[in-house]
Amino acid sequence: MTATVDTTDLSALLAGVPDVRTDAALAGTDPGEGWFAVTDPATGAVLAHVAEHDVTDARVAAAAAATAGRDWARRPNRERSAILHRAHALMMDDHERLATLITAENGKTLADARAEVAYAAEFFRWFAEEAVRPHGSYDPAPAGGVRHLVHRKPIGVAALVTPWNFPAAMATRKIAPALAAGCTVVLKPAEETPLTALAVGAILVEAGVPADAVRIVTTTDAPAVVEALLADEHVRKVSFTGSTQVGRILLHQAADRVLESSMELGGNAPFVVCDDADLDAAVAGALTAKLRGGGQVCVAANRFYVHTDVADAFVQRFGEAIAALNVGHGADDGTDAGPVITPVAAERIEKLVADAVAGGARVAYQAQAPSGAGNWVAPRLLVDVPGDAAIAHEEIFGPVATVRTWSDDDEVVAMANDTEFGLASYVYSRDLQRAIRLGEAFESGMVGVNRGLVSDPAAPFGGVKQSGLGREGATLGIDAFTEVQHLAVAWPDA
Ligand code: ADP
Repeated sequence: MTATVDTTDLSALLAGVPDVRTDAALAGTDPGEGWFAVTDPATGAVLAHVAEHDVTDARVAAAAAATAGRDWARRPNRERSAILHRAHALMMDDHERLATLITAENGKTLADARAEVAYAAEFFRWFAEEAVRPHGSYDPAPAGGVRHLVHRKPIGVAALVTPWNFPAAMATRKIAPALAAGCTVVLKPAEETPLTALAVGAILVEAGVPADAVRIVTTTDAPAVVEALLADEHVRKVSFTGSTQVGRILLHQAADRVLESSMELGGNAPFVVCDDADLDAAVAGALTAKLRGGGQVCVAANRFYVHTDVADAFVQRFGEAIAALNVGHGADDGTDAGPVITPVAAERIEKLVADAVAGGARVAYQAQAPSGAGNWVAPRLLVDVPGDAAIAHEEIFGPVATVRTWSDDDEVVAMANDTEFGLASYVYSRDLQRAIRLGEAFESGMVGVNRGLVSDPAAPFGGVKQSGLGREGATLGIDAFTEVQHLAVAWPDA
């Protein structure tokens, strides 16, 4: 398959980016030990080879980040801020190159990739602004005799572990607040999408970040490398985005050294449409919440709960929009949905659908997906989904929507909260008070109210229940890379 934007030869896009080889990939030869292949999910073609780092490399990186941190933490906040502002500007200048890299290795459409670059870059601007606004306090003790001085210090070296679904934004959402706070980091990007992370790393160096302040460790052996990082004496914090299953493993490992931990884990977002919803807006929001990144997004709408009075109309409009989706290479003009990340992911989604259908669900609408090479999953809308079907409870992480109906607000709140997860929820109603009442009743860290998109670097992102610990973005995002220190200052009262 040939894409409108050429993603087959990335050598020009990756020129000067360390740890990447495009020559061997182009020649179709195996570059040998010490390198691993990155492939295009739409074709299976090898895009480039990336350095295979091991446990020793990870430890060296942590030690180097610790050394770099001594100088970085002492720089005036204004200086760190200026560097982050430059990183934002450089990323925006490099918009198309980065978007093309994201599409090439992740498969999402160029439109989604462009939106991701802007979102990712915004974390540098937001935290450049936060960097110069540290907060502390200075208070007399109630009993007298003491002044309490409270301030925040950079926590130290942070190990960052990121997934493939937002190759740029999941990295910058962690790197930006860490650098702003005065920390240095070791980033372990997902093995499926290391190219974008390496390109962002090179941009940071160009912006003035010391090379050792952001060390990137690429590997196909995440379990060993990350375990070594978390055990390393230089590392003081782990910030992870990925599955709940892996998050649990990292929390266990973090416990050994009582590492400060931020976890952004899986979701199972309900998307609730009330009888008084603006259906055009609800369908538009549903498409965004379900199809952005091919549904491979932790805040993706996973369960559509539609009031019985509007269910037929919603299903028809949403279903027709799904059936009309143009599925193809993300770099092609006019593509609405790309492939999913791996053949394994495609198989998992197909099995969820097949099991639901075997249990009585019906595929009401379906788009055409290409056949042949590539990890293709046809976007679908399922109705009559039995409540006990796995697809009604598990994170689908793909372009498949399931619809169930409800008729009472308390009933839908119970349905929405009937999950171990609590990342995002969505609610559509023209009655804002009803929407907010429902939103407050949902057990989730974020709620889209008449909106299919909740993410914003200026707002706190994170989940409750088994969807995670802590918040990223907003002012809380920088706090996560600091620790509070209290100085009790003897203050003899006159
Ligand atoms: P996803 O399902 O989105 O791929 P994962 O949780 O499997 O989510 O992966 C997210 C990140 O965690 C990736 O960088 C991956 O390499 C890393 N990872 C996967 N398994 C482990 C593990 N056992 N220990 C540490 N990191 C892991």
